[in-house]
Amino acid sequence: MPLLELDSVTKTFGTLVAVNGVSLRIDSGAIAAMIGPNGAGKSTIFNAITGIYAPTAGRIVFDGKRIDHEPTYRIAASGIARTFQNIRLFSFMSALDNVMVGEHARLRARLWDSLLHTPAQRAEERETRERARELLAFVGLERLSERYARNLPYGSQRHLEIARALASLPKLLLLDEPAAGMNPRERQDLIALIRGIRDRGVTVLLIEHDMGLVMELAERITVLDHGERIAEGAPAEVRRDPRVIEAYLGAPAP
Ligand code: ADP
Ligand code: MG
Repeated sequence: MPLLELDSVTKTFGTLVAVNGVSLRIDSGAIAAMIGPNGAGKSTIFNAITGIYAPTAGRIVFDGKRIDHEPTYRIAASGIARTFQNIRLFSFMSALDNVMVGEHARLRARLWDSLLHTPAQRAEERETRERARELLAFVGLERLSERYARNLPYGSQRHLEIARALASLPKLLLLDEPAAGMNPRERQDLIALIRGIRDRGVTVLLIEHDMGLVMELAERITVLDHGERIAEGAPAEVRRDPRVIEAYLGAPAP
């Protein structure tokens, strides 16, 4: 059974058709990628999957349940986490606190517990902090845990966003251009990190411009152009698909 399935999803903004009848299937345990030129509709698909936009038409099924038209918090609670194309961290919070915020979705502490600082609430706070430290170590940021997010190097901010997304214990992690702006060393770390995430049992779908990275990491690639799916397959197939070559390099000279 696929973990995520999009069936003819369309999203329009006024007269602009940003996504046009796109179908997509992500198997559990996969590392899959979505590529395509700027404006192809990739981020809009992430926004539809996470409930930021309801699709204009089509169905989205996650883990056996329809999630299109569900609110974002319920989709998050059902096991989908994401990062954004433009980093969104709490700048004046420590790296550790940023990850703890990500755990919030799962916290059991009741309102009374937090108001009264009951032992149960304090124990939960300790566990939350402990898990956040483990996640920071997993993404390679244990030594920077007390720094403000805004003072971290750019690549580390991207890793921190991933740690925060993982804190909600997702089944599916969506990464929107995670390698953007990274130096070669950070990029290598990212490849290892994404493989490590999958090895923990989390399915990964990434949007990426860096073709080398996509070819190295992804098992399945979906290619979008002008809101439509123009190709889907293993990296080697996609790379020699004439429609993909044309979308990236323009029409061949006559
Ligand atoms: P990609 O991520 O592939 O670069 P996007 O999904 O961000 O592309 O955008 C696809 C198209 O939809 C673009 O033409 C973009 O301008 C448009 N678009 C995206 N979001 C909105 C919005 N909220 N309002 C209007 N147009 C939008
Ligand atoms: Mg985008």
